[in-house]
Parts: sequence; C-alpha cells; structure tokens
Amino acid sequence: ATGSNKIYEKFLEITKDAPGVTLEFAPHDEKEHLGVKKTGCQGVCELGPLVRIQKGQDVVQYVKVQLDDCAEIFEKSVLGNEVVERLLYQKGGKVCKGPDDIPFIAKQTRIVLKNCGKFDAESLREYIASGGFAALQKAMFEMTPDQVIEEVDQSGLRGRGGGGFPAGKKWIQVARQADPVHYVVCNGDEGDPGAFMDGSVMEGDPYRLIEGMMLAAYAVRAENGYIYVRAEYPNSVARLKHAIAVLEENGLLGENILGTGFNFHMHINKGAGAFVCGEGSALTASIEGSRGMPRVKPPRTVEQGLWAKPTVLNNVETYANVPEIILKGHEWYRSIGTEGSPGTKTFSLTGSIENTGLIEVPMGTTLREIIFDIGGGLKSGAAFKAVQIGGPSGGCLTEKHLDVPLDFDSVKKYGAIVGSGGLVVMDENTCMVEVARFFMGFTQRESCGKCGPCRIGTKRMLELLEKIVDGKGEMEDLEKLEELGHFVKDRSLCGLGKSAPLPVLSTIQNFRDEYVEHIVDKK
Ligand code: SF4
Repeated sequence: ATGSNKIYEKFLEITKDAPGVTLEFAPHDEKEHLGVKKTGCQGVCELGPLVRIQKGQDVVQYVKVQLDDCAEIFEKSVLGNEVVERLLYQKGGKVCKGPDDIPFIAKQTRIVLKNCGKFDAESLREYIASGGFAALQKAMFEMTPDQVIEEVDQSGLRGRGGGGFPAGKKWIQVARQADPVHYVVCNGDEGDPGAFMDGSVMEGDPYRLIEGMMLAAYAVRAENGYIYVRAEYPNSVARLKHAIAVLEENGLLGENILGTGFNFHMHINKGAGAFVCGEGSALTASIEGSRGMPRVKPPRTVEQGLWAKPTVLNNVETYANVPEIILKGHEWYRSIGTEGSPGTKTFSLTGSIENTGLIEVPMGTTLREIIFDIGGGLKSGAAFKAVQIGGPSGGCLTEKHLDVPLDFDSVKKYGAIVGSGGLVVMDENTCMVEVARFFMGFTQRESCGKCGPCRIGTKRMLELLEKIVDGKGEMEDLEKLEELGHFVKDRSLCGLGKSAPLPVLSTIQNFRDEYVEHIVDKK
C-alpha cells in the first residue's frame, strides 16, 4: 500500500508549478492560498491514506488514496469544484463527502482529539487560530493559581492513564506542599500493545498537551516540566521538540512569560521501551537517570516525586483535557460523560473489527455502541466473543457486558479496568486461553524483578498457562493458576504486578470451559 508520505510528496510535485502555491497557509485565512501540508492522525486507520481538500469551510475527505489518484483529485477538487466520487467513503449506498459524515467519526465526541488531522500540527499559528492558548491566557490574566486548581477539581477530571485518580485532588496536594520547588511531569510512555492514543495526541496536537502542562505548572507553581515519551514514537518526540523550540522563540516558554512573572521550561525525556516505566515512581527514577524501578510508597509522588520534590504526574490525555476545561468551565465538562467519570475517553479500537482506529467517546458509552455503531461490527460478520480492555493490565469483557457503560467504576465491577484505553476485539474463533498466555508472556517479560510475587509469580503462571495450552495440564493446574493469580494481584509492589493476573483471572471467570477443554481434549 502507498504510505501517506508518498502521497504528500506527490502533491508537492503536482502543485510545485501551480500558480499561487504556498506551503504556509491557514484554513481560517480569508485570502485564497493553495498549499499542501501534513496533518496528524485522524483516527481512521482502516481508511488511509487520507487526503483532505479544504476550501474555506468546505471540506472534501478522500480515503484510500493511491499515487495515481492524486492528479485527478488536484484537477477536479482543487482547481475545479467537483469530487472524485470513487474515493469518497461510502457504505450501504451512503456517500460521505466531509470527514464528519463518516459514521466512525460522526458518532464520536472529540475534545482531546478535536484538532487531530485537521491542521498542521507544527504550526503555532494554526493552533492559536483554532482557539489554542486562549485557556492559558485566561488563566494567567484572569485567574489565580488556586482558581485554576478549583476549576479542574470541580470538573471531576480523572487521570486517563489507568488509575482514574482525580487530577484536581493531585494538583491540590502538590500545591499544598511546603517545599517551594514543584515539578510537572507528563507520562507519554504508552506501552500497552495495541494502544496509540497518546502518541496520536503528541503527534497530532502537541501544543494542546503543552498548554495543558503549562496550566498545571501555573496552578501548582512549577517552573519545570518534563514529558517522558517512549522512544518508539520518533514523530511525537520530533513534534514536541519543534513545538517547544517555537514557543521559546515566541516568548511563550521560558522566563517571565508574556510579562506575567510566570516562568516555565520544558524538557523531553525518551523512554527506552520498558513497560514498567509507565509506573509513576519508575518513570521519575528513569528521568533522574536511574534504573526505572518502582519504589515502595509512601512517600507518594505528590509529596516526593521527581528529585524528591512534590510532583504532578499525569498522562498525555489528562493534560490535553485541561485547556477546554479552563476555557469552557467545569459545568460544561460535567455535562459530558457520567457523574463519577465526567468527560470523554479515547480508545484505540483494534482486533477483529471492521473499522480499526482511534476514537473518543463520552465516558459511559457502552461497548455495544463502540463495537457495532462506531466500529462497524466484527470483521467478515463473525460473532462477537470478547474484548480485552486496558491492555495487558486489563481484563476481558464478554457479550453479557455489551451494555455496561464504560467508565472507571462500572468496568472495575467486572474484574477489568478502563486502563489507558486499549480495546482489542475478539471474535468467535479466538482461543481465550491463548489470549491469556499472550498477555501473561508480555507482563512476565516486562516484570522488573524487584519483588518476589511478581518476579516469580508471573513466571510460574506463564509456565502453568503454557502447560495447559500444550495439552499437558491437569485440573489442579487450573486451580493453582487461579490461586497464584490472586496471590500475585494482592502481594505485588506496583501496578504492573497487581494487574498482570487480570487477563488470566477474567478469562478463567468468563471462559472456564475453554480452559477445561484444553485439559480434557488433549488427554
Ligand atoms: Fe517490579 Fe513487578 Fe514488583 Fe512492579 S510488581 S516492582 S514490576 S517486580
């Protein structure tokens, strides 16, 4: 398949001799410019490469574009006012001209992803034109730091990295610490297999994340912020570095920002791919240059985080929500989602599903709506079996959970977690014991080895799973597996070990028959 970069280069070639072409333009600009630019991910993975033609407010969205299509698109839609119908998204007789007509996008509520795929992620001008930095301006000129914290606290925003701890409460605790040096840290180490929400935000709207962190820094009086990005996201690293340099050049980062006396500097740290570095204390240890290993708590990160100073540590999605909350207020934010989990949640939708991609929906949306309305149902009409939610730290939900509202508290009742938002859809042909073995293999490899229950327990669990899958298991192995799962969950030091058994325990709970079949069948 043709990659988007090749399509971009083809359009540069086609337009290079066209009159009036400029590579710098903004869609809000009244004057007519003709330009080609790259945007971030729009979330519709299944339909790429995408080409978006924008003339003022009129947008045409082409899907699955190939090199041979580019000249025709240019002739018809750029120079003329026609569309190339075969390249528009169509399903069931419906032809969608604009991106917002495509059901996968139309059924979402986008706050965090609202700019992704719509403009040049590197352009500060376009970010500001879309309302960017209005929240920071409001905070710095019209609000005290305590009022910013109060607004975030009242909004009920909960950390989107997995734990769901209220962000405002965390900020209050940091602001209260007597130590005058505070830090703001962003966890962009998204390590779950199949998860790419945070990467898309860092790549597609880096200024939004930075603005969210600046609001946190202003609120808790921090002068330095660190973004910990996994090294496997080179585009995210490049976009963030570029955005920081542009903001420094324009006096929006550094000393005495806009003459307000607010000082803030930002730094990027690259993670080397250890899953455990997504855990708060391992992450701060890694930034400090030590081995990324969790430590015993207390003290908590809000008291002694980075370099033993009070630290606000939130993930990318959490910070990316903050500008809209400050601009529109907590009541607006609370009008979306559920009472206990306000706002939206991004999910990466993968597996045996018609439309894979990145989605953002109000908290409380059901699995049925996500899988069948937005995701278009299962591939090739196969029957739904289960969905793994929350990655290797999560659990599986089945047909009987299709109408459960997805929010932090509801999902927990069924032995799973929303986690950072990975959703892997599985059909009737999936072996759930294999699924459990896959995830246990992942967490066992990623165990840092510091505490016995996780280091030894996950290894023994993996051995038992392999024995069962290989047809050598006994019924007592299944009992041992369950017992060990509860032991590792209850006794491990950090979240990795505590959640590692969840895929095993939830598949045993929901698909015990399959484990028994593996044992009985192979005798
Ligand atoms: Fe390390 Fe696992 Fe213990 Fe966490 S639970 S500290 S990953 S050994």
